[in-house]
Amino acid sequence: MNIVVCVKQVPATTEVRIDPETNTLIREGLESIINPYDTHALEEALRIKKRLGGTVTVLSMGIPSVREMLKDILALGVDQAVLLTDRRFAGACTLATSYALASGVRKIGNFDLVICGKQATDGDTAQVGPGLAEKLNVPHVTYVQKVEEIEHGYIKCNRVTDDGSETVELTLPAVITVVKGINTPRLPSIGGIRKALKDEVMVWDVDDVGVDENLVGIKGSATWVIKTFVPHYSTECTMLTGSIQAQARALWDELIERRGAL
Ligand SMILES: Cc1cc2nc3c(=O)[nH]c(=O)nc-3n(C[C@H](O)[C@H](O)[C@H](O)COP(=O)(O)OP(=O)(O)OC[C@H]3O[C@@H](n4cnc5c(N)ncnc54)[C@H](O)[C@@H]3O)c2cc1C
Repeated sequence: MNIVVCVKQVPATTEVRIDPETNTLIREGLESIINPYDTHALEEALRIKKRLGGTVTVLSMGIPSVREMLKDILALGVDQAVLLTDRRFAGACTLATSYALASGVRKIGNFDLVICGKQATDGDTAQVGPGLAEKLNVPHVTYVQKVEEIEHGYIKCNRVTDDGSETVELTLPAVITVVKGINTPRLPSIGGIRKALKDEVMVWDVDDVGVDENLVGIKGSATWVIKTFVPHYSTECTMLTGSIQAQARALWDELIERRGAL
């Protein structure tokens, strides 16, 4: 069973600042961590590998320093790590991200299963897993809380729904996205840390993965952030005076006037 796990590096805070000029995240000065959901995706992949054999490859798209995060992940017992990094990948919306990651998965090749986190804690869209499946032309299931059965060519998953859960059977290859309840992620062992010191992260740019550069990064994005701002709420209080009738009249006039302004 050859598994690819997609892992995103995210800021270690949810209080992100946005550059008002470019409308993109200001990453400078922010501590970065592995997206928490993706630690569960990794753990599930390693458990499946233990049962069925095969390989686990971790794939990330991000800035060059993401390499350090991938080195740490190699210490968990992952077989290989790939970083997609290139200025041409930058500024991607979820569509362009899905396309770039799908190209990475295809270049890794011979995959049975791709596991993603349910969502990233910065972008929060939960679109990349399904987008990736679409680009790879394979089935997918989201919000997986248990892999009930898995064998070559087949997977049965239990997924969280709004009012409970449901069991879904898929043919492999497929993409699944997982929730935190699926498992408890492991910590690296001393042996794993030693081995990871010698392991190399494969670094691929746009030309290496052979993608159309018009379909990745800002050029390939179908959506753009026009403006980002913190909503400003204010209240104003007007005291009505006079008789009850006069107050009712004043309130009515005010409401009509404001409705006109809307
Ligand atoms: C309208 C719009 C415009 C945007 N414009 C910009 C922009 O101009 N500049 C910019 O920097 N960002 C931009 N973004 C954010 C960018 O699209 C997302 O960060 C990125 O596409 C991943 O989406 P997400 O964070 O919502 O991931 P989700 O879909 O919530 O993530 C789900 C899972 O997908 C996988 N995954 C997601 N991203 C990666 C990755 N990079 N590498 C590996 N695995 C991954 C992980 O397994 C993750 O758990 C924009 C987003 C939107 C919605």
